[in-house]
Parts: sequence; C-alpha cells; structure tokens
Amino acid sequence: MRDQITPLLSEARIQARVREMGAQLARDYAGKDLVVVGLLNGVYPFFADLTRALDLDFEVGFMQVSSYGGGTESTGEVHILKDLDTSIQGRHALVVEDIVDTGLTLFKVRHLLLDREPASLRICTLLDKPSRRKIEVPVDYTGFSIEDHFVVGYGLDYDGKLRNLPYVGVYHP
Ligand code: 5GP
Repeated sequence: MRDQITPLLSEARIQARVREMGAQLARDYAGKDLVVVGLLNGVYPFFADLTRALDLDFEVGFMQVSSYGGGTESTGEVHILKDLDTSIQGRHALVVEDIVDTGLTLFKVRHLLLDREPASLRICTLLDKPSRRKIEVPVDYTGFSIEDHFVVGYGLDYDGKLRNLPYVGVYHP
C-alpha cells in the first residue's frame, strides 16, 4: 500500500503547523470555558498533538458520525454513532476535524451542536479541500489548504488503513 503514496506534507511540517495552531488557540481561548470536540476516527493523531500544543485548561470530548451513500462521497446524511458525553451548553465548543471536503459532514454536525446552545462554536481542521465544497461551512482554523487529492496518513485512511503514518500523502489506488 505504501508504494502507492506520494508524500505531500512531511511529519516535520505538520508538527510545526500544529504547534502554531495550538499557540493561536491558546491566545483565542484564554480564560474561556472550552470543550474541544474531536470527530472520530480520523482526527485522533491531530487531536492528540493539537490538544498537547494547547497550553490551557479545557475538557475534551469525542463524537463519531458517519455519512452514508456508498463509496467515497459523503451524502450529507449524517448518523451519530457516538455522541458527546459532556454538555456544551453555555460553553465554548471547538470542533476538531481531520479534513473538510464537501463540507456536508461538518454542516450537519455544526447545526446539531448549535442546537445545544454553546456560548460559541468554532471549527478547526488540519486539512481543507476548498475546491470540493458543496455547502458553505465556516472553518475558523485551517492547518493546510490542499488541492483535490485523495490523501492518507496522519489519521486519514484508505480502506481503514494507513491512519498511523506520521505524514500525509496522496494515495494512488
Ligand atoms: P465531507 O462531508 O466534508 O465531504 O467529508 C469529510 C470526511 O470525508 C472526512 O472526515 C474524511 O473522513 C473523508 N475524506 C474527505 N476527503 C478525504 C481524503 O482525501 N482522504 C481520506 N482518507 N478521507 C477523506
């Protein structure tokens, strides 16, 4: 599988950017009651690195959603497989995602969480593919904007695998 990957973002580049993002979040959320919400599964390496680069006191929580529709395209029909087990009402919620593609997943998740009346809700993603967007969703923090490639590594999978790679690469099936 690994011989089908062209490197795109090195481990060093990712780690440097994650530290910058952590520093910015620490400035923006200083003194606030923050809940950092990770969207499983793909977010796990980014989430672990970002939260450790965020030098504040905050709570973490996880959600797992799945978009059905068959194949690699999400349909926007979002099913909650695992919900947050902490309340965000009146608190500042920061949703952390691995990649924003069509935007359909985050659009739904955002509305679902806004219904719970957080004091604020922002979105942070490691990767963004703006050219693929089908629906507008406000992304407040972006690690890297990339072209329309299918990428793997650093949490992103192909067929459930390759999430453990420390870098991001373009996968050529
Ligand atoms: P959206 O609803 O924005 O289209 O879908 C976002 C989800 O699609 C991501 O959380 C991720 O699971 C998946 N996805 C989108 N683009 C890629 C990609 O290039 N590589 C991988 N591995 N997953 C992707």
